[in-house]
Amino acid sequence: MSARETPQETASAPVQPPAGEPLRYIPAEIEPRWQQRWAEMPDLYAAEPATSGKPKYYVLEMLPYPSGQLHMGHVRNYAIGDALARSMWMRGYNVLHPMGWDAFGLPAENAALKNNTPPREWTLGNVAAMRRQMLRLGLSYDWQTEVTTCLPEYYRWNQWFFLRMFERGLAYRKKSKVNWCPQCATVLANEQVIDGRCWRHEDQIVELRDLEQWFLRITNYAQELLEGLDKLDGWPEKVRTMQRNWIGRSEGALVEFAVDENTCDENDPTCDDEDKEVRKGQSILPPREGAPNLKAAQKIAIFTTRIDTIYGATSLQLAPEHPMVSAFTAAEPRLAAEVAELLDQQKKAREAGDVGAIEKHGAFTGHYATNPFSGERVPIWVANYVLLDYGTGAIMSVPAHDERDYEFAQKYGLEIRIVVLPRRSAESSESGKTDLHMLPYTEEDSLLINSGEFNTLGNKEALKKMAAFAEEHGFGKATVTYRLKDWGVSRQRYWGTPIPMLYCERDGIVPVPDDQLPVILPPQIEITQQGGSPLGNVPEFVNAICPRCGGPARRETDTMDTFVDSSWYFYRYTDAHNDKAPFDTTKVAYWFPIDQYIGGVEHAILHLIYSRFWTRVMRDLGMVKNNEPVARLFTQGMVIKNGAKMSKSKGNVVSPDDMIARYGADATRMYSLFAAPPDRDLDWQEDGVAGVSRFLGRVYRLVMKRVEPLSSKAVAVNEPFSPGALKLLRKLHQTIRKVTQDFEGRWHFNTSIAAVMELVNDLTAAEPAFASGEVRPEVLQQILPPLVLLLAPFSPYLSAELWQQLGGEGEVLRQPWPRFDEQLAREEEIEVPVQVNGKLRAVIRAAADVEDETLRETALADDKVKSAIAGKQIVKVILVPRKMVNIVVK
Ligand SMILES: [Zn+2]
Ligand SMILES: [Zn+2]
Repeated sequence: MSARETPQETASAPVQPPAGEPLRYIPAEIEPRWQQRWAEMPDLYAAEPATSGKPKYYVLEMLPYPSGQLHMGHVRNYAIGDALARSMWMRGYNVLHPMGWDAFGLPAENAALKNNTPPREWTLGNVAAMRRQMLRLGLSYDWQTEVTTCLPEYYRWNQWFFLRMFERGLAYRKKSKVNWCPQCATVLANEQVIDGRCWRHEDQIVELRDLEQWFLRITNYAQELLEGLDKLDGWPEKVRTMQRNWIGRSEGALVEFAVDENTCDENDPTCDDEDKEVRKGQSILPPREGAPNLKAAQKIAIFTTRIDTIYGATSLQLAPEHPMVSAFTAAEPRLAAEVAELLDQQKKAREAGDVGAIEKHGAFTGHYATNPFSGERVPIWVANYVLLDYGTGAIMSVPAHDERDYEFAQKYGLEIRIVVLPRRSAESSESGKTDLHMLPYTEEDSLLINSGEFNTLGNKEALKKMAAFAEEHGFGKATVTYRLKDWGVSRQRYWGTPIPMLYCERDGIVPVPDDQLPVILPPQIEITQQGGSPLGNVPEFVNAICPRCGGPARRETDTMDTFVDSSWYFYRYTDAHNDKAPFDTTKVAYWFPIDQYIGGVEHAILHLIYSRFWTRVMRDLGMVKNNEPVARLFTQGMVIKNGAKMSKSKGNVVSPDDMIARYGADATRMYSLFAAPPDRDLDWQEDGVAGVSRFLGRVYRLVMKRVEPLSSKAVAVNEPFSPGALKLLRKLHQTIRKVTQDFEGRWHFNTSIAAVMELVNDLTAAEPAFASGEVRPEVLQQILPPLVLLLAPFSPYLSAELWQQLGGEGEVLRQPWPRFDEQLAREEEIEVPVQVNGKLRAVIRAAADVEDETLRETALADDKVKSAIAGKQIVKVILVPRKMVNIVVK
């Protein structure tokens, strides 16, 4: 570890004020002393081997991008994970609590351009700075398992996994659309496109370009990823819903419409070869025995989720880039111009991220196709709102039963034919005539009309029967589509994992052999961000030897999306120094799945879907046994200030270093847990940090004042406790119960800390009783040590200091978590005020755990209450359980 700070004192010699001076809590004195001591104990936070016999607990916070500076959102995230980890250690678990760095990414390249610092140097400098901040916060990470994704000992395994995926057909290359800024002359990630413009060139509209890219076939796992969500009951429902929507399964049918052969045919010399290929009409279905042979005609396959409305299809709509369209436009320049216009509109809408709201335009091709159900000829149009990469790039237009189709049909005067009706009006209507102003009618619970032999079927039944009919007759089939697309992992950037592929003139694409891994990123290159992959400008990198033929080969110059790094990093923590494999499978089998993962909800989709995918790939490679990487997920709220998320541009950033310098790490951490429940947004108030710091000061003085008398009179109290002492003990056990249950349950650490504050209040208020001898100070021997241990997950430095001062042996982390005595924790009786019409009339006594009904009866049976309500009518009785009864009478 490189990040030790010079200690001000040694751990064994805490600074004490001279006798007579008030005890002062000075975190700047206490905290560095303990930080130093812990730095000298590298195994303090190390997990034990699987043979330890303890139950395992893997708690993990999402690894940060090393920007150079922790922000308060980090502090909050890590304070939650650290509190949990410490409590689990104390509860006897074998805890794995690692940390690492998501260290590749574009900011390093930008910084390199701006400051003329190599990305590696800049990144590793930031890592060191942030590690130093984490150490100062007293976070309980095992730095021996630290993972830094930009180092070859890590990214070589990205390459290794990529090769395994390539071998299995899970990694492949295809042409796809990318965001391109002509001024940057580079590809932009989606998040670098802001309102359709380049993030660095506000005036520059981003273009879509076709580039050859590498993809990972996540769609192979679409159904499994979807079904797996049902079992993830330790995940927030909102995250599961976001993932379900992202995967976007829809059930429907493919149906082929045969195109009338009235354009150029195969023998026509004006048709080029490509058109002929397109028009040979490759069927989407294997030929079936006995099915009619439809291959004579070209076919357009459409995908629909509403095959039940197919008799209402009054046109087909093709995407401008549909292959059939080029066949139509080849001999018709006017149509070609119209289609080019439509494509342009679509591109602009896509670039603005707003295809859903595009103003709909279309062009009639002059061609027709036949509806295989009705035998009817329908016109073929090209429409700007149909996308080539959704479904088949062609739809049937059913204006009566689809919003978009309705709008389009009205605009272009296409027929609107009703083929399903609400059950009731279908049964009362003879001809299917109905009010046109109710159109489009899109409800699903309906009956079919105007639909040939399918008339009168309920539409749910029709969906199944009509898909089966299409399959039986060889022109369609039931099918499922997903919104989820394959994962494009190519980036034209320098600071990422080189994709381990070679291009040989003789052999084509050739994978780099395993024994030549890692493909090392050249350490120092000039980054200009001009003209595509920076690695393309490094001849020593690009020029390689083909491992198959020994001839010259060109290296792939794209690097991997950084989400590859974070897709499996948490497996590496279990075996961070393995240089033979990504990890030892037996270690992973012991630690996985992660018991608790904590991070921001902004990672709900990409990171958490990619890592679920990666886990399944590793499972299919025989490397892991778990299907899911994470058993429980917690997404913490944001840290905001003055109503907005902290950000440099808003000027409302609070620096953790400032807070630590002013109030100490303990107070900063504890405030981030105390100010709001962890799942809610936290509105940062410096007054609140100061308040927490004052509370810790009270705890410090409370304990320090008693250290001397307690250690000199360390004798057991034999006589029974006085009522005052019993009251304090009861409060202690109630507090232990409360904090313990909060850790086990809802993680409302704010209420846990508030409960400890109440206990401290009661102890302070008991000072006169101690002074008078009414309560013997020896009772504090039973109260102060557990109090100090209860605070350990929230303020580890102060707890360590006070534990030592109380004569406790060993590290706080190794102490058993305080246990509560259920008997002692129970309140014997409570007092409950009773109001009548808002006016206090009586105070009744009840058992501390009184049920509402009993409380109500007791209140109504009270003499004073009876006389207050005599002769009146009770309107209602309002109960605040165990707190208050309010009777409303008139
Ligand atoms: Zn730009
Ligand atoms: Zn070769």
